[in-house]
Amino acid sequence: MSVLSERPAAAAGPGAPMVAARGVRKRFGHLEVLKGIDLTVDPGEVVVLLGPSGSGKSTFLRCLNHLEVPDGGSVHVGGDLIGFRRTRTGVRHLTPREVTRQRRDIGMVFQHFNLFPHQTVLENVVEAPCGVLREPRGEARARAAALLERVGLADKAGAYPRQLSGGQQQRVAIARALAMRPKLMLFDEPTSALDPELVGEVLATMRDLARDGLTMIVVTHEIQFAREVADRVVFMDAGRVLESGTPAEVLDRPREPRTREFLGRFL
Ligand code: ADP
Ligand code: MG
Repeated sequence: MSVLSERPAAAAGPGAPMVAARGVRKRFGHLEVLKGIDLTVDPGEVVVLLGPSGSGKSTFLRCLNHLEVPDGGSVHVGGDLIGFRRTRTGVRHLTPREVTRQRRDIGMVFQHFNLFPHQTVLENVVEAPCGVLREPRGEARARAAALLERVGLADKAGAYPRQLSGGQQQRVAIARALAMRPKLMLFDEPTSALDPELVGEVLATMRDLARDGLTMIVVTHEIQFAREVADRVVFMDAGRVLESGTPAEVLDRPREPRTREFLGRFL
């Protein structure tokens, strides 16, 4: 089954979802990692994706962001069909330039922050808006300063990444992603590499973004964060969505034995 042969799953326009994934499949060799993932995320919605290690969470996020190409199904973000373009005669793959353009709309924050070590915090945040969006440097610097303020690091603009704690570095990585004005932010275990005492400050920053109405998909094992911030919790297991609902439904009254077993590890 190929994306090229599928009928359109979503259209742009008012009321349209921010993310519409339909039947997303992915295999690596003999291993089928995603077995048909359906997920719809509305604008401003915060979805927390839970699931055991190896269940396909990262692969799914990577399919939303061009880091993996699905073997089947379709993904729309902000009404755009990811990786493809509709023409009068059908559907074609995007050119590399079109892929770059599409990826700008989607910010991603990883477990490891990957800041540029030889640039200051401010320069790290300014880099992409100047280089990719061709924003005038003065404007980009002013916006970067405002973003650093937003993540609580206004006083660290001139510091180098090595001078910051892991939690501070991750907040810079969040500011850097926001500098591209993404429609959608993906977080893949953003606090898993941090010392426990630094987790809270990163989660607090993410909570602020959620409150401001940013559309977010967050892979995390922070159940308390899911309970407090998520509009919806989705539980994945072995390449499938097993259940999805409000935090109270999925976390307090899970229907599936696999969900119960998984959540039991956090008690
Ligand atoms: P999760 O994020 O839920 O822990 P992943 O999406 O990282 O799960 O991985 C799902 C499965 O796919 C795992 O078995 C992993 O080893 C495998 N996998 C992920 N990426 C690749 C790859 N590039 N090549 C081969 N196998 C992969
Ligand atoms: Mg992962």
